[in-house]
Amino acid sequence: MCGIVGYVGSREALPVLLDSLERVTYRGYDSFGVAVLNGKGIDLFKQVGSVDEHRHAVQISGNAGIGHTRWATVGGVSQQNAHPHMDCTGGIAIVHNGDIDNYQSLRDRLLAEGHRLKSETDSELIAHLVENHLNGSLVAAVRKASQELEGSYATVVLDYETKELVVIRNESPVVVGIGEGEAFIASDAPAILSYTDRFLYPEDGDIVLARPDGEVKLFRGGNEKKITVRRLAWSSGQTEKNGYEHFMLKEIHEQPAALRDTLAAHAGGLPALPDSSPERILLLACGTSYHAALYAEALMEGSSGVSVRARVASEYTFSREGGVEGLVVAISQSGETADTLAPVRALKSAGHPVVGI
Ligand code: GLU
Repeated sequence: MCGIVGYVGSREALPVLLDSLERVTYRGYDSFGVAVLNGKGIDLFKQVGSVDEHRHAVQISGNAGIGHTRWATVGGVSQQNAHPHMDCTGGIAIVHNGDIDNYQSLRDRLLAEGHRLKSETDSELIAHLVENHLNGSLVAAVRKASQELEGSYATVVLDYETKELVVIRNESPVVVGIGEGEAFIASDAPAILSYTDRFLYPEDGDIVLARPDGEVKLFRGGNEKKITVRRLAWSSGQTEKNGYEHFMLKEIHEQPAALRDTLAAHAGGLPALPDSSPERILLLACGTSYHAALYAEALMEGSSGVSVRARVASEYTFSREGGVEGLVVAISQSGETADTLAPVRALKSAGHPVVGI
């Protein structure tokens, strides 16, 4: 998991990028970097370590930029492998969260075409693919590049020529915050909630263009689509540590209130389940969510007589359990646990209803 951020508008981009990056640091912190448009090109700063340790050393200025905090998956932890990555011309910079599965064949091809790769990462390849296709429209170039990618990505592309940002996603999270004459991008909404409460949540396959004047356009299946903006009613205080030393400690203390609020929100009745009286329930989860599932298994079987099985989601994928009967409940703290999402996707595409917690 990595954190990505972006900004375009009239403010100084760097403080916005660094503040937003600090809020997505929980997603990765082995290295970080930012790229900002100046009058003559793209200025880059990247460093091994966390934003917090090194933010005083970053001195680049401009009104549009992107940033990344990394948790390495392809290529070791090094300054060169830290994001953003640039194309050969230095006119394109990208940040990426995810894994490109056809990395090796793309890398071999781009090297054979003469591209100069500076890192060992899968992510850098995206910058060079965009470079290959760039011929006028940045959106068109990014769309063509994305068609060559297999795997997961939430990517922001920064282009010096047009001063635009383009966002693409497939299976990795990204949100776009809409401001007055400015736009913000982040892996999750709380990272940019102190700047705006209006969000666009792109779907897999969507392309979002953010212009220097803050105008945001959404493209789906090659056509421009009307944007649906959602307002988030959270205060930014709800997403801060609020005096606790750690988020975990804060969350433990919040549990009674969270349960009360959840139950109060459903005082008129719980949401209808696909099968309101299943004979079997399969709980799928990983890590601490699996521990919660084991506890739920004991509680639910003891009180209801329904057959409840808790399974480690990653093992379920490869198990020989075959078909599923009854209700499937997937549990994930982040909603992004890849090993839980894999069986959820498989079950849903086989037409099986799945409930998520
Ligand atoms: N695969 C990319 C890298 O290693 C991104 C990692 C991630 O999103 O977890 O740099």
